[in-house]
Amino acid sequence: MNQNSPNQLQFNFSGVGCWLTLIAGAWLLGALGLGWLVKSFLVLVALVLIAPIILFGVFRWWLQRTIVEGQCPACNFNLTGLKGAESVCPSCGTAVKAESGRFQRVASEGAIDVEAVDVAAQQIED
Ligand SMILES: [Zn+2]
Repeated sequence: MNQNSPNQLQFNFSGVGCWLTLIAGAWLLGALGLGWLVKSFLVLVALVLIAPIILFGVFRWWLQRTIVEGQCPACNFNLTGLKGAESVCPSCGTAVKAESGRFQRVASEGAIDVEAVDVAAQQIED
């Protein structure tokens, strides 16, 4: 095998020569019985390339499960929050908690949350 050819290519095309040197180095290590070193290095490079993609996918999955979008029970302001976390509505200041896919008012100890219903005057007369 002519060992000068990779060096000549390195001088002519620095970008291609760099890769050829890497490949030649890997082949040389493989020929010396150090193929496991090359393979472990390639596995490491693959892990470094793949890990961010997997982490991004896991992060998106976690966000979809954790983030709750809904409306404030007091003023119908659109809210976004983390599931189970208490927050305050920026519009009306009501303490709200995201539970089971929607926002609920956080009631203080002993308070009874009631919902007012509009009743038309004619319905009472009938
Ligand atoms: Zn509100």
